[in-house]
Amino acid sequence: MPLTQITHYHRPDQLDEAWRLVRDGDGAARLLGGGTDLVVRCPPEATALVDLAEVGLRYVEPAGDGGLRIGAMSTFTDLLEHPEVAAYGAGAVGEMLAQVGSVLHRNSATIGGHVVRSRLSDVLPVLLALDASVVVYTGEQATWSIAEYLDADLGPHVVVEVRLPPPVAGSAAAFVRFSRTEFDHALVNACCRVDLDQGVVAGARVVIGESVTVGRRVPAAEDELTGGPLTPQTVAATARVAREAVSLHDDWIASADYRNHLAGVAVERCLTTVTDRLQKGGS
Ligand SMILES: Cc1cc2nc3c(=O)[nH]c(=O)nc-3n(C[C@H](O)[C@H](O)[C@H](O)COP(=O)(O)OP(=O)(O)OC[C@H]3O[C@@H](n4cnc5c(N)ncnc54)[C@H](O)[C@@H]3O)c2cc1C
Repeated sequence: MPLTQITHYHRPDQLDEAWRLVRDGDGAARLLGGGTDLVVRCPPEATALVDLAEVGLRYVEPAGDGGLRIGAMSTFTDLLEHPEVAAYGAGAVGEMLAQVGSVLHRNSATIGGHVVRSRLSDVLPVLLALDASVVVYTGEQATWSIAEYLDADLGPHVVVEVRLPPPVAGSAAAFVRFSRTEFDHALVNACCRVDLDQGVVAGARVVIGESVTVGRRVPAAEDELTGGPLTPQTVAATARVAREAVSLHDDWIASADYRNHLAGVAVERCLTTVTDRLQKGGS
């Protein structure tokens, strides 16, 4: 759909004004982040853009609890160049961001626009594995865990912030993606996080995504890992469980069998990197 359908452009400097423009626009008014999705796929009913550039949502700040508050208008480049964000999860966030799209794309795409998108994502598996949360505005602010946010049907809302919780001592994460080319969407991606307490896995996240889904935790694989040591044997067993537990999709690019196989490989590689990162001290 060409952007020539857009007849109104708003650039409010207050969050509440942006929200009211969208609420009152009755589907015809769309929030504009970096525009990378809107330019490619502008919904036919959209005739007005509400640009969030002046609302003051481009920041990374420490949260009171020791975590990080990431303003929705922060671009992926902002985040990749922010030392604390890039190093978060023992480097998993930077590792993932460096693989999202191209440099030009990362210069425009915002984290707020991305979480709304809720599909074809390398970012969401990492946010799920790190227990991130999302702050939304609908006349008042509310905070949702990223998992709740992705499952909710919120209707019109402004994403204000993504929050990363305080880093856990003895914790590390890693991200792996497989795609046909560097620039292509992932056939399969995975992010795993392990919280180690005195040599025992006290908490684990195993999240697998693919091109058409958001990324989902794999509870059977998390259970397999939790309560024991992190060794090459437990890593291999967890990867096996993950591969058997997921049911990925089949299309002209890759078969479901191949994607399921890749899921196991991705989990094994993530957990091997996590092991290495924990040996170096983790988060
Ligand atoms: C060529 C290309 C390559 C890509 N490669 C990858 C990749 O390798 N890995 C990956 O994970 N992703 C990839 N993506 C997806 C990309 O990351 C998203 O397109 C991007 O993050 C969307 O952010 P944006 O700021 O451009 O959103 P916009 O296009 O501005 O908006 C997207 C949607 O979100 C809404 N919106 C925007 N900001 C807000 C807000 N703050 N609150 C509420 N609603 C809002 C808009 O109204 C719109 O509906 C790719 C996309 C393209 C086009």
